[in-house]
Amino acid sequence: MTDTVPASIIVATSVVDTIAHEAQASRDGTETGGILLGTTEGNSLVIRHAGGPGRHATRRATFFQRDLNHAQALGDQAFERDRSVWVGEWHTHLAAPAVPSSRDIATYQKLLADPELDFDFFVAIILADPTNNWTQPQTATWFITPSETRVIITNGHT
Ligand SMILES: [Zn+2]
Repeated sequence: MTDTVPASIIVATSVVDTIAHEAQASRDGTETGGILLGTTEGNSLVIRHAGGPGRHATRRATFFQRDLNHAQALGDQAFERDRSVWVGEWHTHLAAPAVPSSRDIATYQKLLADPELDFDFFVAIILADPTNNWTQPQTATWFITPSETRVIITNGHT
């Protein structure tokens, strides 16, 4: 979707707010999440929109899979609004740290390897709250390429 790996990633405040709000659905004991959409501005990737899970998402205690139709509809809306494209995903972890699981990494690598999607990189924001309170989750932003997975931004208490 983009030709170069960005030097920095900027997460819009509205995205932080949306994710913080949506993550509270994990109080029911299952993971939740959604897609991230954004644009490349010079050397920066700006994440402008975050989706919710959608009605047909698979939400389990240790697994989340987006509702594909919901994600596609959000993607179409965002592209019309400001040319934002699908750049990544966010999801919650209930009993694990804010680190991609081996299954998460396998999913991201599969997306990166899909020639139709044409990703050069994938961004994953993972929220964790072992207390299951979700008022101040630990949050980490991960940057994944075919050759590496690294954390780029962390905040929240540990
Ligand atoms: Zn995960």
